[in-house]
Amino acid sequence: MTKESALTRLKQLDARLANLSHSLAILNWDQETYLPSGAVEERAEQLSILRGVIHDSAVEPELGRLLERLGSTTDNPSGDEGLAAIDRDFLRVFRRDFDRERLLPPDFVADAAKAEGLSQAAWSKARNNDDFSFFLPHLERMVDFARRRALYWGFERPYDGLLDQHEEGLTEVSAEAVLTPLAEKLKTLIKAIMAKPKPDTSFLTRPYDIDKQKAFSRSTLELIGFDFNRGRIDISAHPFTTTLGSDDVRITTRFFANNPLSGLFSTIHEAGHALYELGIEPVLRGSCLASGSSMGIHESQSRLWENVIGRSRAFWRGRFSAFAALFPENLDGVTLDQFYRAINNVEPSLIRVDADELSYSLHIALRFNLERRLFSGDLAVSDLPSAWRKGMRDYLGVEPENDRDGVLQDIHWSFGAFGYFPSYALGNLYGLQFWREFTKARPDYETLLLDGEFKPILDWFGARIHRYGRRLSPGALINQVTGKSLDIEPFIDYLESKYAELY
Ligand code: ZN
Repeated sequence: MTKESALTRLKQLDARLANLSHSLAILNWDQETYLPSGAVEERAEQLSILRGVIHDSAVEPELGRLLERLGSTTDNPSGDEGLAAIDRDFLRVFRRDFDRERLLPPDFVADAAKAEGLSQAAWSKARNNDDFSFFLPHLERMVDFARRRALYWGFERPYDGLLDQHEEGLTEVSAEAVLTPLAEKLKTLIKAIMAKPKPDTSFLTRPYDIDKQKAFSRSTLELIGFDFNRGRIDISAHPFTTTLGSDDVRITTRFFANNPLSGLFSTIHEAGHALYELGIEPVLRGSCLASGSSMGIHESQSRLWENVIGRSRAFWRGRFSAFAALFPENLDGVTLDQFYRAINNVEPSLIRVDADELSYSLHIALRFNLERRLFSGDLAVSDLPSAWRKGMRDYLGVEPENDRDGVLQDIHWSFGAFGYFPSYALGNLYGLQFWREFTKARPDYETLLLDGEFKPILDWFGARIHRYGRRLSPGALINQVTGKSLDIEPFIDYLESKYAELY
């Protein structure tokens, strides 16, 4: 077989895998949005069958032979030097995914999937009843599966493998090198802010009509450039973004009557993910490269749109009068300045997903510290609830009264997603590193936000980040765009100047 035909064949099989994954994504999306409750069991069966088909297709021995023919090995994933750059990027990513699948024994994959399902159900029950002991044996099993998974992948230190799974190249040492100084800086900033008078937020707890909230969110999506011909927005319990194809990227959100910005900011956050996926260049369509570089880079886009743009004064100088006009009974007499202060209120609290821009990363630092100790053997799973309470006191100065608002609050660990949380904090850091470059290129950026001129912003990010999809690893991408590696300084600098003005 010639190299050319080997590459053609590999791309065919890759496209088949992408189509199968998108089909799985449709079933998942439907389950979270419109599936009648009576159909849950049938759907679980459909999902499980399709997952099996995808796994089998992803480890077919033919793939290994084709990769080898092209010179791609675990140690030299990009293959032969003579291949085109884009094909070498394709091989690097395909080999990474292929190794991840094939190094796990089939029995292990089946056992883990079954245990994850049981564990998630147990977590849900334990959380409802505020009973950690009910979840404990399942969580112990999840930690064990995660450890074994990383060992199968060949990592000496299991936690490194779990971090690398979501953020290529991230290790416990490199994560700690940014998260520890970040946490120290944030604690100092928050302490100073907590000594200042609090803004009035009372007008954000009155009832706001949900249909009007929806209409405002939709018009905001249109304004920032979300293409409704290539995507849609629906309602689900937990907001998410899913890619069903290069021209079909869907987001979900949810609205609360007495928390009128929650739905809007979730919408903008998910739109940030969607704009990334929709901006991948057409030449990568339908291949394993047509996705984000990493979880952290993905979060950089969503958190940037949500916080740096969506919670900025300039953005609301342009949008506040339209928002206030929709809710005159709630916002009569409220000034833009009062509104801006209220939506940027800093208040360390128990729940990560409700956290403000400053304390958010402290929730992540806590989870990182607990995870690393779980995998180094320094912390027993049974000691997690007390370690959580102590950690909340140390990082955020607040302590949950129960495990429901503590160690049981997040779903991630219940299905074995360890090493995932740090991506959220990394997203904040990458985002501000990118944003600093953008504002250097466009010093008039505040005028763009004020005028609702989002196309130049989207174009800048599209040309430097979105178009590449997975062609560049997160490390390569941040270096290419900023000339630097991961750095906390732009994020801290942004927070210091924003909040010095607010408080
Ligand atoms: Zn996100």
